[in-house]
Amino acid sequence: MKRPPLNSRLAAFGTTIFAEMSALAVSTGSVNLGQGFPDTDGPDRIAEAAVRAIRDGRGNQYPPGPGVPELRTAVADHQRERYGLVYDPDTEVLVTAGATEAIAAALLALVEPGDEVIALEPYYDSYAACIAMAGGTRVPVTLRPHGDRFVLDLDELRDAVTDRTRLILLNTPHNPTGTVLTREELAAIAALAVERDLLVVTDEVYEHLVFDTAEHLPIATFPGMRERTVTISSAGKTFSFTGWKVGWVTATPELITAVRSAKQYLTYVSAGPFQYAVAEALRLPDTYFTGLRDDLRAKRDLLADGLAQAGFAVFRPQGTYFLTTDIRPLGESDGIAFCRALPERCGVVAIPHAVFYDHREQGAPFVRFAFCKRTEVLQDAVKRLASL
Ligand code: PMP
Ligand code: GLN
Repeated sequence: MKRPPLNSRLAAFGTTIFAEMSALAVSTGSVNLGQGFPDTDGPDRIAEAAVRAIRDGRGNQYPPGPGVPELRTAVADHQRERYGLVYDPDTEVLVTAGATEAIAAALLALVEPGDEVIALEPYYDSYAACIAMAGGTRVPVTLRPHGDRFVLDLDELRDAVTDRTRLILLNTPHNPTGTVLTREELAAIAALAVERDLLVVTDEVYEHLVFDTAEHLPIATFPGMRERTVTISSAGKTFSFTGWKVGWVTATPELITAVRSAKQYLTYVSAGPFQYAVAEALRLPDTYFTGLRDDLRAKRDLLADGLAQAGFAVFRPQGTYFLTTDIRPLGESDGIAFCRALPERCGVVAIPHAVFYDHREQGAPFVRFAFCKRTEVLQDAVKRLASL
């Protein structure tokens, strides 16, 4: 007798590109500019806070389901002080196992089978998988290169909304393109969400990684949005502790209750002692956040200049720690083949955009490089890439 297929909803997804490419970096001894993680850890005093929490017996047993009160309060204070968004730490903040679990729980809670979910394409890989797990249908709206930026076509977004659209899944600053949605773009998205009565789930994990004149604006701050927005962020990018997996959600009590109902059956709780450390991290002085930005901006420029010299067309990102290139000036057109060959050709690993598209041909010539690495590592990568 033939067995029914295993994991039919996820069969299309296979291994994540990040796992594949990081393994390739290790097996070929390449410089890994693929998966986005820093190669230096976050502040010592925050690491010490985690050690102290473990030694003091804080969080070593199951913490409360919504997260420890210290962290929920720190998240609420962060949202109020930075953005003027007021959330009750007891009913409007939920701690999760990284943003990844927050995304999964939000989609599982809020999407009914058959609902359509609009996502900006190229989209972060877990979005597609989580929409599929929720039984929803993904409706991509493509960001297209325009000048030095990938741009959202607001008419296309409007046209993508149907009677079955349940929510818009946003991501700003945007991985992989580095686009930071502007006030005008966000206002238009907000107006559309209000007009069509849509929920918005917004992934803002790169909220502190914005450069030059770009400004991160949470969509929850726009008129009519607070009550329909689920905002997601995490400590991984902001504090350079991607392995700790501490994330959080802010939303109305009704939305938080819905997301928590899914979250409690995914992990119930996680990262007990790290939650105390992240509570401290969120209260670091402003100099920490500006220092992180300045450091990454310099690294962005180092890598962008090196890639341009090596012959790539470079989109200098306004946010995130990823930089997108177009490989066509190198006489290449297939980013997947290019990235698979790159370790052999010059000992560097990067990520092909195509895997983040439904219509892979649209992303084919684009390749993403991470610049959250030590300066000497980026210099080494630039030297290697110059041999192309
Ligand atoms: N969203 C985006 C856009 C990301 O790039 C990432 C990963 N780096 C995540 C979510 C996952 O965040 P976390 O590591 O906190 O789960
Ligand atoms: N968010 C990271 C990236 O885009 C990867 C995280 C992961 O491996 N899931 O590179």
